[in-house]
Amino acid sequence: MKKSLESQIYLQCPLIFRNKHAGLQVNLMQFGFDCGEGWFEILENLFLNIEAYSRQLLEQGRSIDKLPSGAQVKEKWGTLCVYIDNTDEHIGTLIQGARGRSCLTCEICGNAGKIIIETYYRVRCESCRSL
Ligand SMILES: [Zn+2]
Repeated sequence: MKKSLESQIYLQCPLIFRNKHAGLQVNLMQFGFDCGEGWFEILENLFLNIEAYSRQLLEQGRSIDKLPSGAQVKEKWGTLCVYIDNTDEHIGTLIQGARGRSCLTCEICGNAGKIIIETYYRVRCESCRSL
């Protein structure tokens, strides 16, 4: 995904991406969002939800280093895969919802798509099918 799009999300979610420059021994965020731009809205929606939830945890007294923290974002087996450190059941449910949406959303353009199984798995609409 374009760095400018990633930055839009990072700016809105400073808490959960506070460790994005921490390096490979901490997380895999230096690879950025390793998926197509068609999933931008799914990711933005997911991370805004997790950011708001993290802010609640902070207000309830959770220390910053125990708050949820983005660890990896990528396409895997055709669908969206998001890993968050300091996760919990609520975040797991949000991530599953985003993954479910990615199964129906073209990874290239964001239009309605479906999982295509050829040499590898991917989610595409008809016009992006060959990409
Ligand atoms: Zn498409």
